[in-house]
Amino acid sequence: MNVARGNVNIREWTRDAGIEPSLRVGIILDQDAMNAVHLRLPDQHYTIEGSVKKGTGAEPSEVPAPFVTKPHTTLHIRHAKNALMVGIDDNPAITLKSLRLSRTAPTHQLDTAKPNEGVLVHDVPTGRGFHWQKIIDQTLTGTIELLPGNRGVVLVNVLPLEDYLAGVITAEMSGTCPVDLLKAQCIVARSWLLAMSESKHDADPFDRCNDDCCQRYQGTADLNDTAIDAVRSTRGLVLLDPADNVLDANYAKCCGGISETPRAVWGMDKPGLTSIIDAPTDADERRFFPITEKNLDEYLDGDWLRTTRIYCSPNVVPASAIERYLGRVDEADDYFRWTVHYQRDELEMLLRQKLAEARQLATLRNLRVTARGVSGRARAVDLEWEDAGGKIVRARLDSEYRIRQVLHRKFLYSSAIVFHVKRDCHGQLTAVTLHGAGWGHGVGMCQIGALGMTLSGIDFKHICKHYYPESRLANVYQ
Ligand SMILES: [Zn+2]
Ligand SMILES: [Zn+2]
Repeated sequence: MNVARGNVNIREWTRDAGIEPSLRVGIILDQDAMNAVHLRLPDQHYTIEGSVKKGTGAEPSEVPAPFVTKPHTTLHIRHAKNALMVGIDDNPAITLKSLRLSRTAPTHQLDTAKPNEGVLVHDVPTGRGFHWQKIIDQTLTGTIELLPGNRGVVLVNVLPLEDYLAGVITAEMSGTCPVDLLKAQCIVARSWLLAMSESKHDADPFDRCNDDCCQRYQGTADLNDTAIDAVRSTRGLVLLDPADNVLDANYAKCCGGISETPRAVWGMDKPGLTSIIDAPTDADERRFFPITEKNLDEYLDGDWLRTTRIYCSPNVVPASAIERYLGRVDEADDYFRWTVHYQRDELEMLLRQKLAEARQLATLRNLRVTARGVSGRARAVDLEWEDAGGKIVRARLDSEYRIRQVLHRKFLYSSAIVFHVKRDCHGQLTAVTLHGAGWGHGVGMCQIGALGMTLSGIDFKHICKHYYPESRLANVYQ
């Protein structure tokens, strides 16, 4: 088949095609409600094409025919009702239905890549809804599309998958990581993308967003030679599941010692995704599998932690290495074991804010985990409180996501938690301490554990086999 790279969208891609697809990445989303977006073009020529908004009275003569910009052109795009007000440099703004910016001389990013090369987009939200939420500037290669959403300007980046992956591996982790870690991250991210099994963003004008909801992507900001090498040398390489389909390779930051099953997190099995113990095959830590109420306290807080060889533990990946190797939006912290402490009134306030049925909560009486996965991640938490009228009310947080969302002001690191409840002499709950393990849903590759494996001299093929033991590597395009 004679189709150029990047000419098939990822949603239409099949293994038979044998070519690299392109991807539409949501950079600024409708939910961000951005009233204005400011861009600066790089030291290169771009073609600008606009389309007219029908029925707004905008005369076609107002729309420039596709034209080529000077280097360093600035664009100011404001959201108007179903349209965009576009100001190019200091010229009067024009009303457009949409806008497309493409490189006049399309060059493969990875062949010419420099950090911070591309179109500069100011104030891009990242870490939406999580504890690390921030606004950062980004530089993007490929084509940029701007559209009016219902609430704000929507910005979409269209680019070949391999170029996109260079911006993923340097955002999910740092480009300064050992190359084998970046190769493993690249293969896993490529597999997850090509599997395209999750129906996300089906109603949006893009395929995947730039955030943890999908995968982090932050353009060329942290691109370096190691990252480019990791992408190039694994080009087209993916994990296949036992039925030879591209494996839907979920991954998460830190498993805490044991990875989780998809069933415990999303209520469904996924071919080729199993739970593993994140330690060498001869490690004594295997005795903890599976985690139950009986061994949970020992798992979370036992003396064995001081000498453990678990790959994502601070013994293998010290805090200084996490700080050096984590992506730049992350804050180094102890993700392996952590505690969160609440006085009763703090927790009550949180529940009133986050749970619709708890608006009338007066006094929290109890909370307990009622179902867990094999990694200790809670699948259900039962709550009991007294409302303003003295009635006892019971409620259930019935998923890993819901538990993490409700039990923290922003988002709890993970649901692998135990509650230590303090009561006064009348049996009244006074405070709750959460002891927890890991960061993220814990399914698939543990990113900090994979870093620990590379620091221990293990290569990317063995890392893939460790986290996805039922998979095999295969090349799906040249
Ligand atoms: Zn998303
Ligand atoms: Zn781990």
